[in-house]
Amino acid sequence: MTIKTIFLDRDGVINIDRGYLYRISDFEFIEGVFDACLHFHHLGYKIIIISNQSGIGRGYYNENDYHKLNEWMLAQFNNKSIKILDTFYCPHSPLLLCECRKPRPGMFLEAKDKHNISMEKSWMIGDRDTDIKAANLAGVTNTILVRSGHITNESNSNSRFITDSIKQSKELIGL
Ligand SMILES: [Zn+2]
Repeated sequence: MTIKTIFLDRDGVINIDRGYLYRISDFEFIEGVFDACLHFHHLGYKIIIISNQSGIGRGYYNENDYHKLNEWMLAQFNNKSIKILDTFYCPHSPLLLCECRKPRPGMFLEAKDKHNISMEKSWMIGDRDTDIKAANLAGVTNTILVRSGHITNESNSNSRFITDSIKQSKELIGL
């Protein structure tokens, strides 16, 4: 049995991207996130968060800071009856050229093996083209680029859909 998943980037998709964010007090959910996630649950999707956290490798915050914020965020989802199946993050500086930092597909492939995910039935929602590229390299072709974070050149995007935010992605998934 495989499962189908909505892969979510974090900064710029779930929360307002303030750049190397690690303080709970700086974390602000983007409008419509909880409603969208409940919709994904109703359609039978699991939710997995996959994010680059190079602020760790750059020395701006540490793994403990990341985990503290992550635990708090998961509790907020839990309070809304949303279960995040797993979270993956890359702590490395881009200089390390690791396999996990998006646009490399490492975190997606790790998630796929760990949870037996059907990539064909899954979706990625991200605010950067690196999210879309990583998903594509891992076999996820259902992709949505959102405008709620990083400003990207939409004409160069390989994303299947482009929409304003996770709120509007509800209308694209489960058609
Ligand atoms: Zn990495």
